[in-house]
Amino acid sequence: MRHVFAIAAAAAALNAVAAAPRAPDRPLLTVYDAAGIKQACDEGLARHRKAIAAMDAKKGPGTILREWNNLSIDIENVINPIYLLSNVHPDKAARDAAEPCLSAYTALQTEIFQDEKLHARVNALQPANPHQAKMKKDLMEGFEDSGVTLPPGKRARAKEIFDRLEVLRQDFDRAIRDDKTRVTFTAAEMEGMPESYLKAHKPDGKGDYVLGLDYPWYFPFLQNARNGEARKRYYVAKLNEGGEPNLGRMQEIFKLRQELAGLYGLPSFADYALRRKMVQNPQTVMKFLDGVKGAVTDLEKKEIEEIRAEKAKDLGTPLADTKVDRWDVSYYQERIRRARFDIDQEKLRKYFPTDKAVDYTLLVSQRLYGLEFREVKVPTWHPDVRYFDVFDAKSGKFMSGFYLDLFPREGKFNHAAAFPIRGASLLAHRTPLAALVTNFNREGLDHGELETLMHEFGHVMHNVLSRVDYNPEAGTSVKGDFVEAPSQMFEEWARREQPLELFKEVCPGCPHLTHDEIARLDAARRYGQGTLYARQWLYASFDMAMSTDPQPPLAVWAKLESSTPLGHPEGTMFPASFSHIASNYGAGYYGYMWSQVLALDMLSPFKKDMMDPGVGRRYRDTILAQGGQDEEMNLVKRFLGRNPSNEAFFAEITGKR
Ligand SMILES: [Zn+2]
Repeated sequence: MRHVFAIAAAAAALNAVAAAPRAPDRPLLTVYDAAGIKQACDEGLARHRKAIAAMDAKKGPGTILREWNNLSIDIENVINPIYLLSNVHPDKAARDAAEPCLSAYTALQTEIFQDEKLHARVNALQPANPHQAKMKKDLMEGFEDSGVTLPPGKRARAKEIFDRLEVLRQDFDRAIRDDKTRVTFTAAEMEGMPESYLKAHKPDGKGDYVLGLDYPWYFPFLQNARNGEARKRYYVAKLNEGGEPNLGRMQEIFKLRQELAGLYGLPSFADYALRRKMVQNPQTVMKFLDGVKGAVTDLEKKEIEEIRAEKAKDLGTPLADTKVDRWDVSYYQERIRRARFDIDQEKLRKYFPTDKAVDYTLLVSQRLYGLEFREVKVPTWHPDVRYFDVFDAKSGKFMSGFYLDLFPREGKFNHAAAFPIRGASLLAHRTPLAALVTNFNREGLDHGELETLMHEFGHVMHNVLSRVDYNPEAGTSVKGDFVEAPSQMFEEWARREQPLELFKEVCPGCPHLTHDEIARLDAARRYGQGTLYARQWLYASFDMAMSTDPQPPLAVWAKLESSTPLGHPEGTMFPASFSHIASNYGAGYYGYMWSQVLALDMLSPFKKDMMDPGVGRRYRDTILAQGGQDEEMNLVKRFLGRNPSNEAFFAEITGKR
């Protein structure tokens, strides 16, 4: 196991001369090059296999959980940095070198959970405390899900299925990543696009704009481009991303999952996957989704009528002859939003200069959770990347660290995400480390991007404030239908007036949102909830349909989409790019909305005072610090002091909050 410790000189410079405390033994990310990745991977795999053999050789439970903890730590020491680097390394060769390593580790994971000797040792364990009991339960479920309890023939088939699913998942994602589809627009067709967009996407020699399918290109176009035919062209291209072969892959994925569930005598993959989630079974999900549909159906219709009226007005066509297409929705909603709420997102970049928005996010987190962040110069993978130590404000104790990699560059992961690098383990005296990766405009953020920043930083806090006994339970290692709750909840600190007051502290010279502007911003955000949640319902319902009865994906999708007010646009194949459900979110897409139920409910103790440090500290201790070492439902109940309720969620999606 190799750790890289900080360069003391940099820390010393910050700590001044006299009573400079000793720089903490600060674990950092090892920035491997391509050869280094291969070497770390090969050596790591050999070392883990030796450790597993030693664990296999012992009889009886003994210290199995300790041994497991150490193995888990050694594995994440190799694979987490490599996974992060595969997304952020400036050198393509290094990013590419990571892929075979990630596959090898997925195979190792299956192997570990198919190891009968390890299973027998864990099974024999008598837990000495609740954390051990939870750890044992999670491990036993991992063994069961990997097939170790199945009879030999079925177990062998389960292994084949897992291996094939991993190949299919990678092929599916690669087809999307490598989709080099470009859509060409004339300068005239760019009418309506904001200046910052035009500046970032220069025309070619002929004066045409050649655009790819990435979200930062696509979304603003659908929202702003005046020309409906141009929007349609882009929409259809985007909704073909991944291509026809991905439809075949998706069908095979769901057929294999169905077969896997059958090996366990379960009726469907939905049953197999959901027994491990908060919801526990497909019936709970279907009931929840029915509730969502019931709540938003009329609202969606009303919003589409508003869009129709706006389109008729815009094009000067009779209302009765005006048809709304899917590529009209974002554009006319944005127009209505601007007219009705007078919000210009582009203008807000002056309100939220990027570095100040970061300062704001850090300030809110420090005040709310009783923390102190100190920036330290350390070696990283790119000169743009910043690093911070995290201390407990009261005790002054070093807790953890995080990186911020904020700006776009060639070949970098092109969404926003938090990456865990090290998970906590109190038993191993292990402190957490995480990275925030985004693609922000350097000048300033619009309000949506401020929400994104706080969302992802919510994940970072969940990672780095973790204080759990066992590493596999650390940070965001929680159930899939809970994992988004802390991050969705933290978005609210980008919306409410009380915390936003603190922006004055980090940027006295910035223009500030008035009470009225904040109210309009919030109203603007809530506008369009009907179409938004109707779409979320559609995605989740498609996922559930495929997970219950796998049929050809395009047929299932077209049928579902045809039953919606806007219908199914001919020539589109959305499932070909729906990578969530081709990977770990299979039978789990509903989890985004389920997490939101909990996120909005967990806001209620902050109702009186969004910056109450007492409530913040309780939230830190009862939710963020706990990771997955207790059942999520217990954590939520402990924080709320009652059973959770979905009232706040339904009020939010129907605009009644
Ligand atoms: Zn998230």
